[in-house]
Amino acid sequence: MTGVPPLVDGFGRIHTDLRISVTDRCNLRCTYCMPLEAVFKPREELLTFEEIARVADVAARLGIRTLRLTGGEPLLRRDLPKLVRQLVAVPGIDEVAVTTNGLLLAEQAAGLRDAGLARLNVSLDSLGEAGFERIARRPGLDRVLAGLEAAKRQGFPEIRINAVSIRGLTEADILPLTRFCRREGFHLRFIEFMPLDAEEAWDPSQVLSGAEVRRLLEREIGPLVAERTDDPGQPAIDYRWVDGGRVGFINAVTRPFCDRCDRLRLTADGQVRNCLFSTVEWDARRLLRSGGDDEALTTLIRDCVAAKRAAHGIDTPAFERPARAMYQIGG
Ligand code: SAM
Ligand code: SF4
Repeated sequence: MTGVPPLVDGFGRIHTDLRISVTDRCNLRCTYCMPLEAVFKPREELLTFEEIARVADVAARLGIRTLRLTGGEPLLRRDLPKLVRQLVAVPGIDEVAVTTNGLLLAEQAAGLRDAGLARLNVSLDSLGEAGFERIARRPGLDRVLAGLEAAKRQGFPEIRINAVSIRGLTEADILPLTRFCRREGFHLRFIEFMPLDAEEAWDPSQVLSGAEVRRLLEREIGPLVAERTDDPGQPAIDYRWVDGGRVGFINAVTRPFCDRCDRLRLTADGQVRNCLFSTVEWDARRLLRSGGDDEALTTLIRDCVAAKRAAHGIDTPAFERPARAMYQIGG
């Protein structure tokens, strides 16, 4: 919007993407994310749809253009399509997307599409029931596959599949998953394992790098050609096979993209964060519930962006894990 300075941090990074977590609850217990015995926030601490839409509206006036709903498992939040509809209507927002584990997608794909959802990311690490349960610690592979089918029928463009790569855990799943995605026309992206697991078992030796996965794919399937992107905030490096199919790598640990990061986050309990690895949060919920006006919310968002660090520093001795795990922040 004219006259409003963009959301720029101390390193010149302009923020245009807001990740909104709508719940910390989940119907899976992925080892890299949640503890087996999770304790969730009381419902009254979660932002209401009206509160979320208000933050989105103020953020859009500051230059946020894309909204990604996540969690926990966002499809567990009752009436999610209603929120999507509200967010699609926010002036300035170009695209609303959802990242889901897909378990409830078969039931909800049509409602989400009707509400104006532009994009779907579905997380899937294994195509074998045993592998799925080893990672997710609950069953559900058949439901995810049914969800993907339903999403395809609804005509979602380019459905993305996110798969976390963990040494000693996911190697055997890489080729079957890749072949499945090529066959079905899904855009697979491998994500490096980040130190955000609730059980704090992460160790650098478990990081199966995107480069290693790519070498395996090139050896077993065929040479990959890097794609050019015009989106500077794009965290993934995408490749194509000459005979069809795309695959991407989010090398968050071995090749951090912090210097291009354009993301801001809102947790389900209303805390604004400038990084997944941030150890500080800005309390939008308190402001919203104590009658704070849009100007106060603008200041809070700008302060949060201004305080963003240059990089997450996972590879530095000074790295400090955030107090909250992935499911509590929103990936
Ligand atoms: N429940 C939804 C899902 O699984 O898609 C949305 C939330 S989940 C936290 C968002 C994404 O974060 C998923 O693709 C998941 O695989 C990824 N993720 C979770 N923990 C991670 C970790 N420690 N390192 C890398 N990616 C992680
Ligand atoms: Fe749930 Fe997604 Fe975390 Fe798995 S990655 S436990 S599905 S929030």
